[in-house]
Order: sequence, then structure tokens, then C-alpha cells
Amino acid sequence: MSHSCRFASGAGIVGLSTAFSLQQRGVQVTVVDRIGPAAGASWGNAGWLSPAFTIPLPEPALLKQGPRALLSPSSPVALAPSADPAVARFMAAFALNCTPHKWASSMRTYATLNAHIYDSFERQIAAGVRGELHAYDMTVGFASLHDATGILDELARVSAAGQQIDVTLLDPRSAREYEPHLTENVALALRLRGQRYLNPGAYVQALADAVIAGGGELRTGIDVTEVRRDGARARVIGTGIDELTDAAVLCSGAWLPRLASAHGVRIPLFAGRGYSCSVPIDTPLQGATYFPAARAAITPRPDGADGRPRIRVAGIMEFADPDKPLNPKRIRVTNDAVRPLLRGIDWSGIDEQWVGSRPLSADGLPLIGGTATPGVYVGGGHGMWGLTLGPLTGELLAEQITTGRTPALTAGLDPLR
Ligand SMILES: Cc1cc2nc3c(=O)[nH]c(=O)nc-3n(C[C@H](O)[C@H](O)[C@H](O)COP(=O)(O)OP(=O)(O)OC[C@H]3O[C@@H](n4cnc5c(N)ncnc54)[C@H](O)[C@@H]3O)c2cc1C
Repeated sequence: MSHSCRFASGAGIVGLSTAFSLQQRGVQVTVVDRIGPAAGASWGNAGWLSPAFTIPLPEPALLKQGPRALLSPSSPVALAPSADPAVARFMAAFALNCTPHKWASSMRTYATLNAHIYDSFERQIAAGVRGELHAYDMTVGFASLHDATGILDELARVSAAGQQIDVTLLDPRSAREYEPHLTENVALALRLRGQRYLNPGAYVQALADAVIAGGGELRTGIDVTEVRRDGARARVIGTGIDELTDAAVLCSGAWLPRLASAHGVRIPLFAGRGYSCSVPIDTPLQGATYFPAARAAITPRPDGADGRPRIRVAGIMEFADPDKPLNPKRIRVTNDAVRPLLRGIDWSGIDEQWVGSRPLSADGLPLIGGTATPGVYVGGGHGMWGLTLGPLTGELLAEQITTGRTPALTAGLDPLR
């Protein structure tokens, strides 16, 4: 049977992965986006595919740090002043999920999903997506043993949830032998084996190219304002569109609540805005590097036009409207925190300044599956880890849409929970 599937919105990693997987199952797809591929969070993110850190965000320790961190101007966590009741609703629901029991239960869900992450990317690449994954050992650096306790505890809990982690504690000398860019301020490091990263913008563009090469349609400049049931089909309405489709999949990232709330999706969702920029570095970094206390994720970038190696510095969690303009002060906060920890960087060569919105859900779990409206599906709410989980999400949605069966892996991820 040939299906026709129009996407209400979303040419990010989730929407394009869903389109690609549907196409693999013989479905004719159209992807629409108000701007274009990777216009949302899928471009300037850190590019990590790191199962060890693909874990629930609502965590008991955040309840203690949260209020203190939100009040400091140099904090990597920021709450923009707002009268929006959605902010308070999100924060309250998020706080209720910051219990050890909820975290452990959500972590078991993540551990099941995480076992399939790398295979889902390999399947996309084998089926024609011209993307490239880089395998490496991640360095996690700390200025003190005290700084490391949180992550060590977290990794122990991830392991207790049944996920395999290969981690070694390194003294500063061994850490610098492996990653010479670490400064003397790094007193302790972890080496996390078997991680991968990619160039997110390039990968998502490769996905878009593969969808088009497979006969799919990508329409840009289309702002979807409403999706509704119309007879036996779904009707997609917006700027430049008013069309009927067999199935509509809402993959609009941090903008998801605007379309999904009409379809019974009640779980609070909010934008956790993050920032990044790229800077030249004297010699290539070994691989991605993480400074948890600075909440900074560092990833190698392709060489710049001047031939110099570059890195991306990403961080910040700003709870604010996803359409707010970039605030350069936030980029400075992360860069200032990284400066004493990493040497060889030319901080005068900042480029690719970017802000993007992590689509956060109050319980820290993604939303994957059908809604209260037959023929309308949701793929979103992946928060910190939408790049990592995008291809798997696409496979699961395509399976559900084409077979009518709910895949076992989506247990706990029902958008109507
Ligand atoms: C600083 C930072 C670092 C991160 N690092 C990582 C990482 O290392 N690893 C990882 O796995 N994840 C990471 N993430 C998270 C990841 O980027 C997101 O979870 C992921 O990109 C979400 O993908 P998406 O397809 O759901 O949404 P998006 O990529 O935001 O795509 C949504 C698309 O929908 C379109 N759209 C929205 N509304 C409409 C509408 N009404 N009509 C038409 N189109 C619409 C937008 O234009 C956009 O293109 C990071 C995020 C940030 C901010």
C-alpha cells in the first residue's frame, strides 16, 4: 500500500529521520519547515552521540542547585524574567520529576533506547545518508575531586540502570598525555571510551538530501499554524499550505506545544535554549571534551577557511522563548568558564555564534507516537539528546504509522501520558 504522509513541520533531525524511515517503508513523504533543514536546534548543537550522558534531565541534584544558579549572572543556567504562566507550569512539573525514584525509572527507559543509538545511525548511513560518525574516547575534565563527585555518582547510577560504561579515572599527567590541550587547572579527568560525535548541520543536510534523492519533497518557508482532522485524513494549514494527508507528524522541536496541544498533548514542554560558537585551536583536539562544572561541551569542527583546526564550544541552559534573539553575553559565560581549562585556543577568532532551543519535556522523556487525533503523530521533547535519539525516533514512528502497532521500545514515551 502506498501512503502519502505530509509533515506538519520540522526539518530537524527528528522530522527528517522520520521522513527517511517512512520512505524506507515505501511511503511518499513531504517535509515542510518554516525555514529549512536544521534551522532549529539541530544545527549548532555539540554533535555528541554519547549514550553515557543520554539520561533524564530532571535529576534530584538540580533541585538543590537550581534556585541558586538561576540568580547568578555568570551562571550557565538562566531563567529569563517572564510573566508567561507556561514557564511556571513547566518549572513546577519539572521539579516534581526531580526525585531519585523518577530518575531511576526514566533512566531504565533511556538505557533500553540507548542500546540502539549507534545502530540507528549505521542503518541510515548504510541506506544512503552521506553522514560521517567519528569514534573517539571522551575526556571529561575537572578542576577538583569535589567537581567530579556529581558525574561519578551519575555514571554509577547509569550503570546501575543496566547500561554498560567503560570509564577510567586519570591523574592530571595521564590526562594531559592523552589530551595536551588540558591546562594545569584540570586536576582530574575521566576517559570515557567508545563515544562518537558528528557534524550536526552537515549530517541533517545529508538526511535532507537523502529524502529528496529518494523521491521525497522538502518545502521550505512554510509555517504550519494548525493541523486538524478532516474526514478520514489530516489537514495541514499554514502560511503557504492547506492540504490533506494520510498522516501528519509533528516534529517542530521547541515549537511543538503550539501545534501539539490541540491533539491532547498535555505534558509541559519548554525551550531550554543553548548557545555555541566556534574558535580556532592550534592543533586538533583528540575528540569531544566535557567540563561538567562549566557545563561546557567541546567538539572538533571542520578546519576553518584559513586552514586552522577549529572547535565548537557549546553550553548554557536558558529557559526562554525559542524565538528570542541570540544574547552574546551567554556565549561569553561559557567561553570564560572554558578559558582556564583548555590551552591553544585563539579566542579572538570567534565565529559561528549560534543559539538553539532544546525541546525539553517536564519528565525528561521524549514524546514518540500517536495523539488523540487519529492520523496525527508526535516526535519531540528529546531535550538535551534529540540528535542522538533522532534516527531511532524516526524508525519507531515509521513502524507505528505503517503497521498501526505501538513498538515496545516506545513504552513510557506516549505523547498523551
Ligand atoms: C547547545 C546545545 C547542545 C546540544 N548538544 C547535543 C548533543 O551533543 N547531542 C544531542 O543528541 N543533542 C544535543 N542537543 C539537543 C538537540 O540539538 C535537540 O534535541 C534536537 O536538535 C531536536 O531536534 P528536533 O528535530 O526535535 O528539533 P529542531 O532541530 O529544533 O527542528 C524543529 C524544526 O521545526 C521547524 N518548525 C518549528 N515550528 C514550525 C512550524 N510551525 N511550521 C513549520 N516548521 C516549523 C523549525 O524551523 C525547525 O527546523 C543540544 C542542543 C543545544 C541547544
